[in-house]
Amino acid sequence: MISVSEALDTVLKLVSPMRVETVPLRAAAGRVLAAPVSANRDQPPFAASAMDGYAVKAAEVERDAMFKVIGESAAGHGFKGRVGPGQAVRIFTGAPVPEGADFVVIQEDTSRTGSLITISDHPGPGNNIRPKGGDFQLGSTIAAPRLLSSADIALLAAMNIAEVPVHVRPTVALISTGDELVLPGDTPGPDQIIASNTFGLDALLTAAGARVRILPIARDTEGSLRMALDLAHEADLIVTIGGASVGDHDLVAGVTESLGMARAFYKVAMRPGKPLMAGKLGRSAMVGLPGNPVSAMVCGHVFLLPMLRAMQGLPPHGPQPAEAPLAQDLPANGPRTHYMRAQLSAAELHVFDDQDSARLTLLAEANALAIRPANDPPRAKGTMLAYLPI
Ligand code: AMP
Ligand code: MG
Repeated sequence: MISVSEALDTVLKLVSPMRVETVPLRAAAGRVLAAPVSANRDQPPFAASAMDGYAVKAAEVERDAMFKVIGESAAGHGFKGRVGPGQAVRIFTGAPVPEGADFVVIQEDTSRTGSLITISDHPGPGNNIRPKGGDFQLGSTIAAPRLLSSADIALLAAMNIAEVPVHVRPTVALISTGDELVLPGDTPGPDQIIASNTFGLDALLTAAGARVRILPIARDTEGSLRMALDLAHEADLIVTIGGASVGDHDLVAGVTESLGMARAFYKVAMRPGKPLMAGKLGRSAMVGLPGNPVSAMVCGHVFLLPMLRAMQGLPPHGPQPAEAPLAQDLPANGPRTHYMRAQLSAAELHVFDDQDSARLTLLAEANALAIRPANDPPRAKGTMLAYLPI
């Protein structure tokens, strides 16, 4: 049995970053930028007004000063002339500030009669002008790797970058195993249950950038499992669910071995999730998850998400696990790292009493997994404990 961190190091060695492809801007959201990109222009491309008002010379701005309005500068339609002494140009937000002007008096501080304006209130200290290139300049770069957020997509668009180099999404084949499983929407027999964590993992992995294929459920025969694994052979990552422990019907270890899997490990000192195996099957990385719904999902968070990050060129470990004070006392932990369902609220970690690894309702209620290191001594209410947000 190996530790969680040894297991994590090992699974990360089974994968490498995917190749790079260029995709249209809209398809880049949620993908990982694979190479730095540079702005093709300045933003704003000209000194632009931040307000509606009048463009004038700053040196002439004072209360009661009067100006003659000689034209208009609107967004998309700049004023082509020059602002001279005693002159003003009506200007709107986003419009180019005309030559000769270096101050915009906001319209609330003016009064207008015909083509004359008077500064009727004390203008503030700011000139209300966004300088050319004030947001970014030609050649400003966005560094890679970077998981592209909606804000990044807006920034790339403003930089006039229509095509974006990103890592190819890893394909993941999900294979559920078990005679007892049927798909959601089917009518289960009296001894059957619904394949639930298959769909939970699909959602988790898809949100983390994977292209997930849910393969037909493998029944508890070697032939059926072999057929499912055969269908999966082109996946970058094969994930089996269930059949991973040592019962008579647990076939994953034997069948993958007979298919030539170089198995990296079989058991990990963690709760839930001890019977976890990983290795290389042909060109695919393979992880065999335990079937208990919560175990499978916890292993998804702990192992599969870092693998997907690495496969997309990101550092595998996101920000360090966060810490929060415990809302209650906890007894000593046993010899395995325990990922405990918990609710983080009012900046306190409330660890649930019931940690039954078959109970999905408690996982759905949790928004954090409190991490108890192996052999952690008892902890008093208020001590800090690391957690994984989920
Ligand atoms: P196993 O590892 O195959 O012995 O499965 C352990 C437990 O998890 C059993 O109660 C299975 O019925 C259950 N199980 C296995 N696979 C799934 C699945 N895909 N969805 C929900 N429960 C499962
Ligand atoms: Mg089974």
